[in-house]
Amino acid sequence: MSALPPLTSERRERALEVLLGPDLEPIVDMVGWSPAPDTYEVGSADGSARFTRAPGGELTVESVDGQNPLAVQDPTRFGDLESERKTPHPRRHENSYPNGYAQFAQLFDHPSAPDLCVIHSASHNWEDQGGHLGEHGSLGIVQARAPFIAAGAGVASLGLADIGCRLIDVSPTVLTILGAKSEAGATMLSHQDGEVFEPLIAEPGRARHVIGFLFDGANPNVLHDLAMRGAAPNVARLMAEGTACRYGALASLPTVTLANHTAILTGSHPGHHGILHNAWVDRASGQQVITNSPATWATSMQWLNPGIETLHHAIKRHFPGAKTVSINEPCDSGADYSTFELVRNGQLPEPPPGPDDLPDATERFVRPSKDYRWASRADHTAVTQFCSVWGESGSTPPTFTWVNFTLTDSAFHQGGPYSEMAAASVADTDARVGRIFEQVERAGVWDDCAFFIVADHGMEESDPEVRGDWDAVLRDSGVAVRDEGYGFLYLP
Ligand SMILES: [Zn+2]
Repeated sequence: MSALPPLTSERRERALEVLLGPDLEPIVDMVGWSPAPDTYEVGSADGSARFTRAPGGELTVESVDGQNPLAVQDPTRFGDLESERKTPHPRRHENSYPNGYAQFAQLFDHPSAPDLCVIHSASHNWEDQGGHLGEHGSLGIVQARAPFIAAGAGVASLGLADIGCRLIDVSPTVLTILGAKSEAGATMLSHQDGEVFEPLIAEPGRARHVIGFLFDGANPNVLHDLAMRGAAPNVARLMAEGTACRYGALASLPTVTLANHTAILTGSHPGHHGILHNAWVDRASGQQVITNSPATWATSMQWLNPGIETLHHAIKRHFPGAKTVSINEPCDSGADYSTFELVRNGQLPEPPPGPDDLPDATERFVRPSKDYRWASRADHTAVTQFCSVWGESGSTPPTFTWVNFTLTDSAFHQGGPYSEMAAASVADTDARVGRIFEQVERAGVWDDCAFFIVADHGMEESDPEVRGDWDAVLRDSGVAVRDEGYGFLYLP
């Protein structure tokens, strides 16, 4: 392996000819690239746009040829379950790509950004990923939109409100809820793309403790609907006492797991915090980097950019003496207690019970589905760890506790977002949240706690009929390609 050579425009044109041709149109929504610093192009089968970034960060569309693929950037589209389901696998002109220009621009700030970033269509079903019905990763709004619900001390009580933000806004907002202040003109984290989401805050500094739950891959319209129908009483309690953002919190491109866990926990885009994707090519060495796999979770933060603070670092800097906790989360830098720190030290948590004895696990799915079982056991261990850290007698509960639940992602992928399996995963996760609430009550600090639920991306139902692989078509056309993390194309 050696450093990747710079791309010639001739090779790029050849690849684009194939990718944007009629054969791949059903699976390729659009392709983005950066032909020169601060210059970007996005192309689709029926048009393209070129835009630039000024030194102050302002993005300007310079030219459009045919249909601008990013013409629609409405953050409110498909803002309830009915409208989402009425337009299954929306095509480009029916879809919406909020913050589309900024989404591509941040990506190409990373030194190992791909030569071409392929966005799959809403209908595309990855057969080599096991033919999952639920998909994410693209720029389309259903795949980008994660839920964001907050409640408790200092948090506004607006119920299900017609508001929304971005995942990069979560960390600055949590810091404000805790009462952190920054000097005029300075940001609250060392590097910050996000902003404080003011509508959520009723009384800054009122909360003494914040507990954040990540429901990986949970579709917000489905989550709100289940909560309102009584299938997730603890989520419903937070929605009733606090605020649920109807338009959710939008993930950064690529809308995949570890890039956006890290976006939530650093307030920065993947192109800036360094965890570019679940896998990519390190251009300097030509080596493949894999961050989001069981073998690499514990060490994935070696790729976090130096100088990037996590929420853990920032809380401890703003509030000397504060203690923070990271449960089941690869993005754990700066936490005082972390599941993956224990793993790095060879201290594996006690194995959870098997499927027959596992609490809060829907029997119908936990027995037959290997993924459902694995994730249920991991999430049960998360509850055990929470209760053990929070139950330590004589110690003050942590200022910030982050709990990563994975079952929702497994189930929403496998069954699709509207499936009974997805609903069961929400009910099981809700029950685990209930056990954590009981522990918070036992600690006697409920009234000083703020809570939030978020996810790392959305989940969209794909069309099992729309399959195929652009890599194979490129190779058949004589274009050599390395495709990492799916959709990150490097042309060697
Ligand atoms: Zn995920």
